[in-house]
Amino acid sequence: MASSLKHWTWVNTDLQTSDDEWRRRLGRMREAGIDAILPEIFNNHTAAYASHHLPVAGRWLEQLLPLAAEAGIEVHAWMHTMTCTIPAIVDQHPDWYAVNGCGESAADKPAYVGYYKFLCPSRPEVRAFLQQRVAELAAYPGLASVHLDYIRLPDVILASALQPNYGIVQDREYPPYDYCYCSSCRAAYQEVGGPDPATEADPAADPAWRQFRCDLVTRLVTEGLSPVIRAAGKQVTAAVFPNWQHVRQEWSRWGLDAALPMLYHSFYHEGIDWVRAECARGVAALGPATPLYSGLFVPALTPDELVAAVRASLEGGAQGVSLFASGSLSDEHWRAFARVNRELGKLS
Ligand SMILES: [Zn+2]
Repeated sequence: MASSLKHWTWVNTDLQTSDDEWRRRLGRMREAGIDAILPEIFNNHTAAYASHHLPVAGRWLEQLLPLAAEAGIEVHAWMHTMTCTIPAIVDQHPDWYAVNGCGESAADKPAYVGYYKFLCPSRPEVRAFLQQRVAELAAYPGLASVHLDYIRLPDVILASALQPNYGIVQDREYPPYDYCYCSSCRAAYQEVGGPDPATEADPAADPAWRQFRCDLVTRLVTEGLSPVIRAAGKQVTAAVFPNWQHVRQEWSRWGLDAALPMLYHSFYHEGIDWVRAECARGVAALGPATPLYSGLFVPALTPDELVAAVRASLEGGAQGVSLFASGSLSDEHWRAFARVNRELGKLS
């Protein structure tokens, strides 16, 4: 186990920190057993790298790549994919955005939160827009992978512990949260012999329509984005949901180089046993070709619970964990993480 064990951490955008402070942080990560960082280089409105087509907030990826190489840590470019709140895109291309079962566009009436402006996965213009971004990123020498996050549709059913935040009860799929019913998606479904989903009395009861939308997201990854990334010699990784049906995200079929399911137990009123079970379920779905790394939600874990969650993930068949997020770990968390890695034989 020790030789194949690999640990990751997501790192939220941070454009202010000096090279010396990054050296210190990366050194501490390495000493605790982190092998790979996932810096957030596109949130949903600005790029933290020298993009030629997106608004640029800073050149953070360029700063981190040599520092991480010095520390012996891989860099994976974490990008939000389908959410896009760039004002110029919203204003000039409202037709690129996903539409819910009530006919409302995410461009001007997003579900749940203001940033839930999801693009539509069936639009050729959206595919081309996203291909530009992954091509720019994949061209960076020294980058290990392009890491796709928000590669999905909005949650038709939110994680149970999050529903009260919005004062809603989602005991089934309801039209205001169900996407995408844009003219492009509806026409594409009819081309393969389906009815117009907008005229169905209960489209949630049409399993073929649900699968069709999973397939739209799958094809965006397998035909649209992965070939561009791999042509530049880079890997394709993704942050994905355990309740994948609720976000139309059938990630076990994407042919990823690594899958990082976000097993944020507290969002689902679950405990660490659930993390173990979800790892096992994911590993079984992926098959042996794709390693799974268990995404752990650090704010809901004490240092001792973090140790237990690492062990549970490995018992479930994960080849390591990915910590969300690096800024959430206290000194005690880092010490506990190093301790379990020594016990596992990963660190001497
Ligand atoms: Zn659509």
